[in-house]
Amino acid sequence: MKTLTILGSTGSIGTSTLDVLRQNPDKYQVHALVAGQNVEVLLPQIREFHPNVVVVATESVLVSLTDRMTEAGIPKTEWPQLSYGDRARVDAAIAPEVDFVMSAIVGVAGMEATYEAVLRKKSIGLANKETLVASGKLVMDAVRETGTELIPVDSEHNGAHQCLRAGRRDEVLRLILTASGGPFRQTPKERLATVTPAEALNHPTWKMGQRITIDSATLMNKGFEVIEACWLFDFHPKEVDVVVHPQSSVHAMVEYNDGSVIAQISTTDMRMPIQYALTWPARNTAPVPRMDWAVSRTWNFEPPDMDKFPLLRLARESQAAGGSATCTLNAADEIAVGAFLGGRIPFPGIGEVVEETLQRVGSRTASSIGEVLEIDRISREVAGFIVAERG
Ligand code: NDP
Repeated sequence: MKTLTILGSTGSIGTSTLDVLRQNPDKYQVHALVAGQNVEVLLPQIREFHPNVVVVATESVLVSLTDRMTEAGIPKTEWPQLSYGDRARVDAAIAPEVDFVMSAIVGVAGMEATYEAVLRKKSIGLANKETLVASGKLVMDAVRETGTELIPVDSEHNGAHQCLRAGRRDEVLRLILTASGGPFRQTPKERLATVTPAEALNHPTWKMGQRITIDSATLMNKGFEVIEACWLFDFHPKEVDVVVHPQSSVHAMVEYNDGSVIAQISTTDMRMPIQYALTWPARNTAPVPRMDWAVSRTWNFEPPDMDKFPLLRLARESQAAGGSATCTLNAADEIAVGAFLGGRIPFPGIGEVVEETLQRVGSRTASSIGEVLEIDRISREVAGFIVAERG
């Protein structure tokens, strides 16, 4: 029986993780559910999975949760230990009984808990991109020192993880990550200035949280994935290519030195990579739709339009520059995405705010998670000023 802490249980990855657990009640149990604010989704999760510990983002959310638990008539004797905030998130992830941590909080809020879990040698399913984008060096140094298993859940990196099992690392020439191209793949560049948040949130193939959906529309998400791949598999950004593949069936490919290319293919259902992370190095039957090879289909592959989507270029440049540039990239993007969703900047403004923030903040080396969080804070502040200046 594996015991889990799920960071971000109420989100898209968190609920899919719980669905995998639901299908395998004899294999997994929950130590802690960690969420932000969504009490309405959290409450049924508590009733169904009986965690020992529940952590929410703030004290006021905790009050709403206890009110709802009382209203729902859950006897106090059945209540889990309830808490809130940064320290409680870390404690939930590093508790001695925990074997596996699913890192699926959006943004940097889950970074410290993930890092501390790596230091305690918990197996990690890593969905949260920001952990490696903002603090890749610190986290991967800790992974190497402790020998922690860090299995990527993001479908492209999970695909790459599978493709890399086909040969030795020194036989690999390059990694190719696929991108759906997002909702604006065929939209002329001039039209992007007037696209609405609703159009940008209409992702063609994946159903995900808001931030990652907008990041898919700008290709920032693919830029983050290039950075994440560099850290996970020890690549230089030049060795990681991106190819637009609108059908999102091929998730990643690895080219070996003899010219052979190994691809990972599956339907667009995150429960597959989630389960792979949970069962690795074994595989189990997964509750996902299968590719139907009796149906004829066409798959397209095309290079990304780097002129229309400048954030992919900025991501590559930030990773190649090293230091804290990628932390700033992530922080500025989060602010800019929020501003776009709130109607304060147009869609192309996201890239412009990020580029200007990178120029103003500069780059340095961070030697602790505390320093990373400080750079994150400063970068957000600067990005916020830039948004305000434009508004
Ligand atoms: P969602 O927006 O659906 O969920 C985010 C989760 O984080 C929610 O449980 C939310 O809680 C929680 N959260 C947010 N802020 C806090 C906080 N301060 N403290 C505690 N919990 C918090 O995001 P996704 O599930 O889509 O994505 C999660 C991560 O996985 C992201 O980093 C994303 O980039 C990555 N990812 C997602 C994929 C997908 O298919 N969805 C694919 C690959 C990677 P609440 O809702 O209760 O406020």
